[in-house]
Amino acid sequence: MTESRFDIVVVGAGHAGCEAALAAARMGARTALLTINLDAIARMSCNPAIGGLAKGQLVREVDALGGEMAKVIDATGIQFRMINTGKGPAMHSPRAQADKHAYHAEMKRRLEAQENLLLRQAMVTRVIVEEGAVRGVATRDGHVYNARAVILTTGTFLNAVLHFGPAIVPGGRMGEPAAEGLSESLREAGLDVSRLKTSTPPRVNGRTVNFEGLEVQQPDPQPSPFSFSTEHIDRPQVPCHVTWTNPRTHQIIRANTDRAPLYTGQLTSTGPRYCPSIEDKVVRFPDRDRHQLFLEPEGLDTLEVYCNGLFTSLPQDVQEDMVHSIKGLEGAQIMRYGYAVEYDFVPPTQLKPSLETKRVEGLFHAGQINGTSGYEEAAAQGIVAGINAARKLQGKEPLVLGRNEAYVAVLIDDLVTKGTEEPYRMFTSLAEYRLLLRQDNADRRLMRYGRDNGLISDGLWRSLQEKEAAIAAVADYIHSVRRDGRTLAQLLRRPEMGMEQLRQADPQLARLASDPAVAEQVEIEVKYEGYLSRQREQIEKFRRSESKRIPAWLDYSAIPELRGEAKEKLSAIRPASLGQASRISGISPADIAVVMVYMEGRRRLNAAPKPLETSVPGE
Ligand SMILES: Cc1cc2nc3c(=O)[nH]c(=O)nc-3n(C[C@H](O)[C@H](O)[C@H](O)COP(=O)(O)OP(=O)(O)OC[C@H]3O[C@@H](n4cnc5c(N)ncnc54)[C@H](O)[C@@H]3O)c2cc1C
Repeated sequence: MTESRFDIVVVGAGHAGCEAALAAARMGARTALLTINLDAIARMSCNPAIGGLAKGQLVREVDALGGEMAKVIDATGIQFRMINTGKGPAMHSPRAQADKHAYHAEMKRRLEAQENLLLRQAMVTRVIVEEGAVRGVATRDGHVYNARAVILTTGTFLNAVLHFGPAIVPGGRMGEPAAEGLSESLREAGLDVSRLKTSTPPRVNGRTVNFEGLEVQQPDPQPSPFSFSTEHIDRPQVPCHVTWTNPRTHQIIRANTDRAPLYTGQLTSTGPRYCPSIEDKVVRFPDRDRHQLFLEPEGLDTLEVYCNGLFTSLPQDVQEDMVHSIKGLEGAQIMRYGYAVEYDFVPPTQLKPSLETKRVEGLFHAGQINGTSGYEEAAAQGIVAGINAARKLQGKEPLVLGRNEAYVAVLIDDLVTKGTEEPYRMFTSLAEYRLLLRQDNADRRLMRYGRDNGLISDGLWRSLQEKEAAIAAVADYIHSVRRDGRTLAQLLRRPEMGMEQLRQADPQLARLASDPAVAEQVEIEVKYEGYLSRQREQIEKFRRSESKRIPAWLDYSAIPELRGEAKEKLSAIRPASLGQASRISGISPADIAVVMVYMEGRRRLNAAPKPLETSVPGE
């Protein structure tokens, strides 16, 4: 057995692990990133795309905190689109098709170039825990990595099996082994482990697809970068194509449901409701005679095409028939069959809001191991876990963002407070303050936290200060200058009026608001002022309940008026504030009132002068 010593060990170089390791190393922690296969770093297991509704916001937030995902997709994306531009700015979300291989290679290069970071191919089989604290990990090849903090980001790999029709094969992802041993070691450490599933569609050879007559989806003419530090997108941009399933496809699927692992009892764990397999869609929505599919290129140096929407674990002969029944795919050769993966995850109510496990000090979890699904959700947790592991070693309080500040915070708060019964994905509807949590202002909301942790460069920080000064100057100007008795801000509030028109009519404003990002911030603030100020009032109330901290010593079982179910749930989750307590499912406002009264009583008791007899011990 050989040994080495690090401050922090990160297990798994997927989307969570890369962010966690980079953040930790950049914050000065001697970090090791151990992963099963270096050629699979930041691999996109499923769709070759980053961003999309709510996920795009997450990527912008990761960037503002000092993460890498946005920069890597900016360097390797091949079709950028801002989606939902027909709706209000809170719904605008950046999305980009990725060149899958280039994305992996770019992230690997960045990890290799990182000071303080050892990148090594190794499979971790055990977490070493002594006296309730993590001490390191052991690998299959007999090496022990001692560390003061460990971050597990093992994705879909723990005790995973792949379902190809009736065939069940051990594996974490197609062509890659499952991680064995680790789940058992987590159970030994006292953690509960449970199971989820997800599926992926077939990929076909683009040479054999007939794109003629298919609807074309073009990239935006002016691609907008994900990262606040990217000036422009230089890569060639390519289109996607749209096709549809049809009654013949549905008939093939229906005729074979008795061979679908989903319906034979072979696949029993819960999958993502929002991203169902095609067999599930056809069975659950019998009245629909077509479902939309996107044919997405997997990269510039390959002809492989991803059939987005055709998620399936049906047997391979059925996949052949199904694919060939679809317009454009009549003669398509399948290069990789669709399949489902079933894997262990660690229910996230066992985590603190810092992403450290409650059971084992110094052990952090991020990404799909926490029951989430998606690269962006993983990256967002990864950077928070990396920052918090490093802060812990620095003796600092963890970074815990509020639901009013970031989608990242909504994601983590939902996970640790409510847990999840199915793979959790981010939606705008989950964020109650989404009017303020926009992709366009992630830098203004979060960059100061990245800066505090040393993850934002001087140059980028200076640009933000300049942007803030310009926003303030433009806002002052339009609120003070009048035309025909009305301020420019009042004119801007008119639905038909935009900042661009005002700029054209006013050279001074054109100069002040020459940066489109500055103009956009002011325009949104003015046009949506009523909604935004209402949301800010709600946030004030939210802040008040979040600031009512619950002391760690509080023993819920000792509160006689509290219902049994409430005692059980509050003791299990151990919320940090009354606000968090109120979000636990099954906890009623009446339970919160009981806890408040009890806390107030205890506070008075502690504040009261001590009775005479106990203040004179020994008499
Ligand atoms: C078949 C399939 C279908 C999917 N479908 C969807 C979908 O429809 N929508 C969606 O949003 N997401 C989907 N995903 C999930 C998406 O890939 C993940 O959510 C995302 O990649 C999670 O990121 P992560 O960093 O947590 O884990 P991953 O990207 O899975 O990375 C985990 C990394 O950890 C490494 N690792 C694991 N165990 C060990 C160990 N013991 N020692 C060392 N290294 C280890 C692995 O080699 C891997 O590199 C799918 C995934 C799969 C496999």
